[in-house]
Amino acid sequence: MTEYEAIIGLETHIQLNTTTKIFCGCKADSWGEPPNTNICPVCCGLPGVLPVLNKTVVEKAVLLSAAMHTEIQRVSYFDRKNYFYPDLPKGYQISQYDQPLALGGYLELPMPEGYTRRVNIAKLHIEEDAGKTKNEYGRRLIDFNRCGVPLIEMVTQPDLRSADEASQYLIRLRQLLRWLGISEADMEKAHLRCDANVSIRPKGADYLNPKTEIKNVNSITAVRDAILTEIERQMREVEAGNKIQTWTLEWDEESGVLRKMRSKETEADYRYFREPDLLPIQLDEAWLSEILSALPELPLERRQRFVEQYSLPEYDADILTGERSLSDYFESAVQSYGSDAKRVSNWLMNDVLRMVNERGISPAELKLTAAYLADIIKLVDSNAINTSTGKSLIEKVEQSGKSPQQIVDEEGLAKVSDQDAIRTVCAEVLAEAPDQVKNYQGGKIGLMGWFVGQVMKKMRGKADPQLAKSILEELLSK
Ligand code: ZN
Ligand code: MN
Repeated sequence: MTEYEAIIGLETHIQLNTTTKIFCGCKADSWGEPPNTNICPVCCGLPGVLPVLNKTVVEKAVLLSAAMHTEIQRVSYFDRKNYFYPDLPKGYQISQYDQPLALGGYLELPMPEGYTRRVNIAKLHIEEDAGKTKNEYGRRLIDFNRCGVPLIEMVTQPDLRSADEASQYLIRLRQLLRWLGISEADMEKAHLRCDANVSIRPKGADYLNPKTEIKNVNSITAVRDAILTEIERQMREVEAGNKIQTWTLEWDEESGVLRKMRSKETEADYRYFREPDLLPIQLDEAWLSEILSALPELPLERRQRFVEQYSLPEYDADILTGERSLSDYFESAVQSYGSDAKRVSNWLMNDVLRMVNERGISPAELKLTAAYLADIIKLVDSNAINTSTGKSLIEKVEQSGKSPQQIVDEEGLAKVSDQDAIRTVCAEVLAEAPDQVKNYQGGKIGLMGWFVGQVMKKMRGKADPQLAKSILEELLSK
């Protein structure tokens, strides 16, 4: 049987998180707001209006272009992409065509299997969004709120070789967009939209077969599922001796099937021409270097540095660089703690991260500051409190905003390593449980855990469990 490989290219539309739209003063994000409440003559394309370019859109797009290692064009142009559709009141979309903001570039994908896939970028440009139509009350309704929302369109080369690589691209792109602070990149809210071009060929071949385009996929899982389904369909067609038609397909998430939408328009149908109402975007050195001064260390670079500088396992480094504010939190906790970054990483990944995820907040918003976390680990290191008290302090500091030391003092949480105090309680526990003592002495030594538990309970968790255990052993051997 022939072995096949998939050839996948992705086209993404990224909604930028600017305050206002790209060519007018309307609010850019109107998610969840009533239809047609966030519009004006400019974004609805009434006759006689003129677009004015939002400078922030260019700046955010330049940041992404730099992070994607593209060649940023010093001069780029806007063009009109003409088509008729009810959600496009102007009859054309202002986009960029043959002279876009950026060309080339790449994104590296470290795959869970251990290899790295480099995905090359064909082009990156700025454009405006269209509105949306929906079926309701037995009618087709139009909402123009999204008209003029700023988008970046980014197209990859057909460099992806599996559905997993495609979903990894979206995971890394989403991480990068949030890291740069230029988009919320929430696929469910259409901040990040993706169309996938898919074809297959015998493994090792160097030609390209006709491809299909999958549209309307709105989660990373859905992109993966839709591509897997399409690869399997194409394999069945080819095995049956049929040709692949260049269809546009729509993914129906509920039933898990792809439906044929329409045969694809060619670019000539759009009759692109230069937008006469806007000047070209000119990036002079001064403006460019001002924008690029805000470019942070990128997630994959920081991940690599964490491995080298702090001797962290790649697993830890990957999680700790999942989000920029988490990386910042980690580094500032390591600085306060002073040594052993791996110990900080363990506390952070096990206990703090769980709390962050449960509450759906960013590490920057924690009342448990990085310095407080370092304080808690130091209290455990110095034997002032035991580990379980340390873990409960994480919650308590977060709830109260008080310092760990203050809570330890107020609640009397300091570990009791006083031999006599523990000895008294151990004796009490044994005196109250004559049956268990008999069983233990008769050979059921598994009961030791229960005895220790009783001591900890009586001492409200403050006893040193090791010490309690050795005292119990001593008393029981008598
Ligand atoms: Zn407007
Ligand atoms: Mn587009």
